[in-house]
Amino acid sequence: MRKHVLFALCCLFAGALITSCRKEAVKSTTADSEISDETKAKIYALGFGTDNVRKVAGGYLVENDIVLTEENLNTKINSPFLRIAGDEQYRTTNVVSVSGTRNITVLVTGLDTPYIRGTDTAIARYNAQGLSLTFSRITSGTADITIQGFYQGPSGGFITLGSAGFPTAAGNPYNSILMNTHPQAYGANPNVLYIGSVIQHEIGHCIGFRHTDYATRSSCGQNVNEGQVTTGVGAIQIPGTPSGADPNSWMLACSNGGNRTFNANDVIALTYLY
Ligand SMILES: [Zn+2]
Repeated sequence: MRKHVLFALCCLFAGALITSCRKEAVKSTTADSEISDETKAKIYALGFGTDNVRKVAGGYLVENDIVLTEENLNTKINSPFLRIAGDEQYRTTNVVSVSGTRNITVLVTGLDTPYIRGTDTAIARYNAQGLSLTFSRITSGTADITIQGFYQGPSGGFITLGSAGFPTAAGNPYNSILMNTHPQAYGANPNVLYIGSVIQHEIGHCIGFRHTDYATRSSCGQNVNEGQVTTGVGAIQIPGTPSGADPNSWMLACSNGGNRTFNANDVIALTYLY
């Protein structure tokens, strides 16, 4: 998930600070040109844009908040239910397998209190839906999903707030969420509901939700499709969700900069899947 930062960037930051932030960003970024054409072709075939692809731990970061693993890149699944365009809620081909009920454990490591409280907020919101999938936060051991920090300044007028990936072919959730601890992401005193809303969104990816506006990225002020979808990750419309605009969905590509939870259509989509 991302947010616009251009306004804040112009007003609040100047001179040496910008320079140092950018240096930091450049150091931690793999240049687009270092991604092989073969890898880019696989990413495109999965239905994602190939601009600003970055090599990160676990795979390749695309669309600024989605990690595609080697498994994602090398899986070819033809789905008969694909649908392109519109603003419906979409799921990936792989979802988390549940028989009866299933609890997903979440561990927050190396992050301050607002991130821990934000995680608890996101978990409470999922658990309040009465789904077959529940979540609980653990404080030690190995979790199904581990939340950790990264530090990266803005680029091109946007800053990445957090990132995650999609479920495995074996039906497990993606196991990692990364949250940006750069002060331009959440400010010097992060708001728990804001952080919680981003974690809620990233958990959505981990359990198989794509961006509601993946066909336009309109929440980012853009009009670009994240790519044609024919194989692999998939973008399958969830029955009962609208074909019209859905401006408050928790799975919009870009943040509103504050608190955003499930709207009525999101609840339909969650209840349908889980
Ligand atoms: Zn996202």
